[in-house]
Amino acid sequence: MRISDLFKKQKRTLSFEIFPPKKESALANIDETLKVLSELSPDFISVTFGAGGSANCNRTIETAKKIKHIYGVEPVVHLTCLHYTKSEIDSFAEEMAKEGIENILALRGDATPDVPQKEDFKHASDLTSYLKDKYDFCVLGACYPETHPESANIVSDIKGLKTKVSAGAEGLLSQLFFDNDAFFKFRDECRIADIDVPIIPGVMPVINAAQIRKMVSVCNATFPERFQKIINRYENDKEALFDAGMSYALSQIIDLLVNDIEGIHLYTMNNPRVAKRICEGIKNIV
Ligand code: FAD
Repeated sequence: MRISDLFKKQKRTLSFEIFPPKKESALANIDETLKVLSELSPDFISVTFGAGGSANCNRTIETAKKIKHIYGVEPVVHLTCLHYTKSEIDSFAEEMAKEGIENILALRGDATPDVPQKEDFKHASDLTSYLKDKYDFCVLGACYPETHPESANIVSDIKGLKTKVSAGAEGLLSQLFFDNDAFFKFRDECRIADIDVPIIPGVMPVINAAQIRKMVSVCNATFPERFQKIINRYENDKEALFDAGMSYALSQIIDLLVNDIEGIHLYTMNNPRVAKRICEGIKNIV
């Protein structure tokens, strides 16, 4: 099913994000994760895409095929374009179409020192219009409640986002954030700019203090004091941090839900325990 049809059909979506196995040999191990995640009945599961190299990309598409054909859940394939030519994008798109995969999260991706960039696509909006013109996918895009780190300001960021939506993005999945007010302000700014597709907040429950500090600095995310105190207090006690991290994420999610968001996209970090705990916490709410 196309995610755009899901958005029309139901009030809210619940989705999970996973990354594909890092090695070919680990492709079988992803089954354990997918089994638990699919039992939680998400509306879709999105699979991230490596920065370059066909082996990485094939594992993304292989994982998406499993999600669709073995676990009966709708996959969304992340597809980056900075390191690919049009003909390389065509071969990924044709493979997906052949498998009945209907949904793509069109991304630019980031420059990496060891993978050469190609000239065909500059921005995610270029990939979006290319896919919309040539194929019949539902295309989603990424958005940044606290602005993309490369953007000079919110105005240029929203302009870029508007171009992406005009190019055909039918919904937006957000970067993680820990301060809901930042998301609500961003959503208002998008609506003022007539960006009227669903904007789905991305929530990352914390299970690892070092990882979260890194994410905060990479993504430019606000690190609220209430949240910092939790990390500082429990960073050396894995189980305590897990409980506290899940509680923080649940309080974020409940606040989002009562503020009329159109879905929740959970960054699962391939940890089924995280997804299970969060779903248990909102089973009577979503
Ligand atoms: P763009 O939309 O191209 O934006 C990049 C910058 O250019 C921004 O500053 C934007 O304001 C500006 N801009 C956008 N359009 C225009 C335009 N037409 N003209 C001028 N300026 C413009 N990375 C991966 O490698 N693999 C993944 O699987 C992956 N999954 C992600 C999932 C989500 C939900 C999110 C939020 C990010 C993900 N990323 C992933 C990271 C993403 O690739 C990086 O954040 C990258 O730096 C930007 O990608 P984008 O698609 O948002 O780019």
